[in-house]
Amino acid sequence: MSEILETDSRGIILPCPACDSANRIAFARLGQKGRCGTCKAELPLPALPVEVTSDVDFTNLIAQSPLPVIVDFWAAWCGPCQMMAPEFAKAAAKASGRAVLAKVNTEKLPGISNTQRIQGIPAFICYQGGREVNRTTGFQPAEKLLGWAEVE
Ligand SMILES: [Zn+2]
Repeated sequence: MSEILETDSRGIILPCPACDSANRIAFARLGQKGRCGTCKAELPLPALPVEVTSDVDFTNLIAQSPLPVIVDFWAAWCGPCQMMAPEFAKAAAKASGRAVLAKVNTEKLPGISNTQRIQGIPAFICYQGGREVNRTTGFQPAEKLLGWAEVE
């Protein structure tokens, strides 16, 4: 079982728990249950952090998700970011079906950090309906992060 999910330009890639084949949950259908394209088993709602893998994936996720998207801007060299990782995973599990918890590696995707004007990390931005609604920085426990994003 993986500990993180990944995006492509159209959705989140979710392995089927029954047959392990990769299924795409379209960004526009996040929060809805789907069925595995291979074995037809019902797929669980994503409950893991989602690593954004390109600038286009980020743009589409933010624009198309019907759920709020909480983005963690992080880097491997950043100590507080590493401390934050398990809390962010906890938050993703707690908010399953109600919010998407996505991660942007600021070293791999510097263009996104630039357009979002990220200065210190870890930084968190909550997006809804394609727009930024709130941002904060620094380590925080899962409950505090979800409370801040108003995803209780
Ligand atoms: Zn399957």
